Amino acid sequence: MAGWNLEHTYSELPEIFFREQFPAFVRSPKMVVFNEKLAGTLGLDADKLREAPGMFAGSELPPGAKPIAQAYAGFQFGHFAMLGDGRAVLLGEQLCPDGRRFDIQLKGSGVTPFSRNGDGLAALAPMLREYIISEAMFHLGIPTTRSLAVVLTGKGVIRDGLKQGAVLTRVAASHIRVGTFNFISAYGTEDDLRKLADYSIRRHFPWLEGEKDKYLLLFRQAADRQASLISKWQLAGFVHGVMNTDNMAISGETIDYGPCAFMDIYDPQTVFSSIDTMGRYSYENQPKIGAWNLARLAEAMLPLFNGHHDEAVKLAQNSIAIYWDNYNRYWLTGMRLKLGLADEEPDDTGLISALLDLMKRYELDYTNTFRALANDLFMPETHEITAWNKEWRARIDRRHCDISDAFDLMNKHNPAVIPRNRHVEEALAAAESGDLTLMHSLLDALGRPYEESRLFSTPPEPALCGYKTFCGT
Ligand code: AMP
Ligand code: MG
Repeated sequence: MAGWNLEHTYSELPEIFFREQFPAFVRSPKMVVFNEKLAGTLGLDADKLREAPGMFAGSELPPGAKPIAQAYAGFQFGHFAMLGDGRAVLLGEQLCPDGRRFDIQLKGSGVTPFSRNGDGLAALAPMLREYIISEAMFHLGIPTTRSLAVVLTGKGVIRDGLKQGAVLTRVAASHIRVGTFNFISAYGTEDDLRKLADYSIRRHFPWLEGEKDKYLLLFRQAADRQASLISKWQLAGFVHGVMNTDNMAISGETIDYGPCAFMDIYDPQTVFSSIDTMGRYSYENQPKIGAWNLARLAEAMLPLFNGHHDEAVKLAQNSIAIYWDNYNRYWLTGMRLKLGLADEEPDDTGLISALLDLMKRYELDYTNTFRALANDLFMPETHEITAWNKEWRARIDRRHCDISDAFDLMNKHNPAVIPRNRHVEEALAAAESGDLTLMHSLLDALGRPYEESRLFSTPPEPALCGYKTFCGT
């Protein structure tokens, strides 16, 4: 059995929520990368499964699998659209030895009733990119879906030219999205909506069961998870790139690694996605888009908050105000730690903004500037930077006996290794031509992000920072 222990609680929801769908058959699957540690967490036998690429390509189902494609909608760049799993199937929910439950989903496994004009397939490089960046996020302590395997299908897919087809096995706390609520609000009954909310509570917030205002509390807790998640993105310099409501998970995990990327030089207006011409999903907009998406979730849930529409709207508005309070608190706490401040002073916000301003003006690398402050590495010695440094040191001295305590704190909260675009691209290009060495050494460094890496800690030359990502992966 290789440790498979699949259940199917999602399929107990009304039929409108999913369609039964088998993955496409793959004749000659080949394992490219297999996440042995994650397999261990899931209670799976890595030795057996490493040799079973068919199981991660869709040609051979794990015992107990009942594959489905999930229905969902989403506000894409602000506009409602019916979507659904167009190139993914959920095999089931793996019950882990530690009692946790994870969705096991194949991505790139053929067409489904929700494919619209898509081919249902995925190419190797984008699937490896998801593998690399989701692993990096996990090791940075940022909630995320994970990647268990990437398998070559042996078939070509047409993207920008002919590419090698691949399937990614995604592991997620669940695939309930804000878009699942948008979908049921548009196409289902109030009873369906209630069932989805009850299911979400059971799956992610079981302590709310039995509470009088459980649906409002569900909304608030889901919002709180987004506040915490997005604060972590901001602190790490991560730009998701396509924060449509279908790409926002109720669990609070980062999901859907399409046009995402990490910032090199600090610029709040950073956008990587070639189609995001208005900068809707820029770095600085992410917390606002979080609130916008939560407003769409609240709209879908309104009938559950209160029978009176106006009352329900008030409750939703209060809850979004709480999201902002939480977000600001999480961000400030995180920034203090990045600057080695173990306590609070009222003007910390001013100190932080002043540093960010300098980073922007002097085009400093976001990640390495924080590292440099703690490790006596190179910083431009302008009058303004020296003055800021003095102020910051004085701020630390007011409370700390020893500056080295502050530096230790900083080295635990500021990574030395992030998946820099240039390194990821180089690793993907090598992998496409069959050489996985660079990808494995990158993954190894990303697994220990707080240790300097000779190969991967150096930022690119400023001229090489204009990175673009593309959709249609
Ligand atoms: P995404 O931009 O990855 O969040 O996907 C948005 C929607 O497009 C989802 O419904 C996906 O399932 C669908 N989709 C993306 N790529 C494909 C594809 N190659 N074939 C079919 N559907 C796709
Ligand atoms: Mg998506």
